[in-house]
Amino acid sequence: MKIKLIMVIVILAAISLFAITKSNIFVESNSCVGCSDCISVCPTNAIKLLDGKAVIDAELCIDCEICITSCTYRAIRKNI
Ligand code: SF4
Ligand code: SF4
Repeated sequence: MKIKLIMVIVILAAISLFAITKSNIFVESNSCVGCSDCISVCPTNAIKLLDGKAVIDAELCIDCEICITSCTYRAIRKNI
């Protein structure tokens, strides 16, 4: 019984850690003009253009924030 409880706690902790480490970077699509500047600087190829707007794949993003500084339209933000 005690082992089951410990296993549940470990699994919940792992899920919480995964949620915390997921990317918080996102594109404000209204401000994006589809220039692709962010795509060319992303080291993990996490950004794609979809219908002329940049979209970030949170699974590939490592939160380096390079794309934020590359966007002259200030379309890329970070959730704090
Ligand atoms: S650099 Fe900014 S404006 Fe250009 S595609 Fe990326 S998010 Fe959009
Ligand atoms: S924060 Fe870094 S890894 Fe994530 S999308 Fe921007 S440039 Fe790519």
